Parts: sequence; structure tokens; C-alpha cells
Amino acid sequence: MRSLRIAHLYPRDLNVYGDLGNVITLVKRLEWRGYRAEVLPVEAGRPVDFSSVDLVFGGGGQDSGQLVSAGDLLERGPELHRMVDDGVPMLLVCGSYQLFGREFTTSDGRHVPGLGIFRSATVGGPHRMIGNIVLESPFGRLVGFENHSGRTVLDPGQEALGTVVQGFGNNGSSGEEGAVTGNAIGTYLHGPVLPKNPVLADHLLLTALRRRYGVEELRPLNDELELRAANVAASRPQGRAATLRPRHRPLHRIVAALRSL
Ligand code: GLN
Repeated sequence: MRSLRIAHLYPRDLNVYGDLGNVITLVKRLEWRGYRAEVLPVEAGRPVDFSSVDLVFGGGGQDSGQLVSAGDLLERGPELHRMVDDGVPMLLVCGSYQLFGREFTTSDGRHVPGLGIFRSATVGGPHRMIGNIVLESPFGRLVGFENHSGRTVLDPGQEALGTVVQGFGNNGSSGEEGAVTGNAIGTYLHGPVLPKNPVLADHLLLTALRRRYGVEELRPLNDELELRAANVAASRPQGRAATLRPRHRPLHRIVAALRSL
């Protein structure tokens, strides 16, 4: 039985807003077509043989989770660049997307060098961009959920994934969302993004199957439920930029709360 190896980057530290659901979607859409899937967790400090990897997925994370993973990711940068050059399909969501850019600055000003696979720079800030998001893209309409403070600016000539129809996208002002370098796709769309966007999921799978086995088409699946979910999400009102408020509670109120226990 033909099989694909999917590398899941830092599943402990970069996996928010249901992003693990993207890996589950890739596995199930392979199995429903008679293929086998093997998921390879990539954890900091653990050696990984990327030469046998057919598809790479990275999810989103808090600034802190990104800081934990950034050093290890940088060490794997040369291998990941080679894989991009070799046409390996990748999907990087939010926190991972930011780290695959040239540089990322956290919302409290800590600077993190990125891989430079996307020619982009991201700066975190006091306002979070939250809510359902709809794009127009080469894969048609894409629907997801975004929650990020990072504002990503693409260098001139860096291809975007799509154009924002509803939502904030890369930075709330350029009208662009995501980035594409070769078969590597970066996006702010959580949700998870793949269950509601089967065209994108199958694009990643077919790219990997074509590269590994010369497969030229995938048997169509009944995506009625997936598309209904996408329509519901797309119909929900867009969120709004939320200003970060310090989450501390005044000490006297904490003391009073403790006394009342
Ligand atoms: N910590 C990053 C930001 O706030 C990424 C967030 C995420 O992955 N959802 O922009």
C-alpha cells in the first residue's frame, strides 16, 4: 500500500486553534483513497530524517511557544530549504508561517530570526486580529479563523496566498493573506483550515503523491459536509481587532478572593 510521510512540526508547542485537525484531515483524506499515512512528530532536539518526508505541516502558537521552537527550527533550516527547492509541499499556519519568514518580533519586542523561506517580516503588537476570514485564492474561496497580533509584510515579489474578502489577513491593511514559495504555503487561517477547504487539502496531497509516486489524480470525495461547514463559517460576522489588556488582577482583589475561600 502506497504511503506518505507527514512531518508535523513541534506538535506540543505549535498547535493552537485546532491546527492538529489539519494533520488528521490529511491522514483521513489519504486513507479514504486507499493510501497509508505516517505522521512524524518533529520535536526540539530530536533528529529527524527529512529525506523521506513527503509533506510538512506546522501549526500556530503563542509567542512563547514560538520562542521555544525557533532555535531548533533554525537548525533545521538548511534541510527545509532543500525540501522547498525539491518541491516538497508544506503548509505553515500562523506561528509557523511567521517563523518561516525572514524574521519575527514578538508582541513584547523579542526578535527571532526566521528561515527566510517566505520573504516576509512579522512584528507582533498590542492589537490582536481575531475572527472568521475569507480569501480569494488560486484554490478558490478559502475560509478560516484568524487570531494573531503579528503583522506580516511581504517583500516585493513575494507571492501571497490570496486576497482578503473578509477579515484582516497578513496585516489588516495590505489586503493580502499568506505567502507561497514553491509548494510551501503559509497562511493565518486556523479553524483548522483544511477540513473546511478540501481543495487546498487535496492540492497538498496530490503534490506529495505526484512527487513520490507520479500519481496524477485523486479520486473525488463527497465534500458536502466540508463545504457546508465552510459556508457557515463564511457567513459569520468578522471579528474585530482586540486590544490586548494586561491580564493581571489588582492585588487587593486577589487577596480578597483568597480570603473568601
Ligand atoms: N503568536 C503569534 C501572534 O500572535 C502567532 C499566533 C498564532 O499562531 N495564532 O501573531
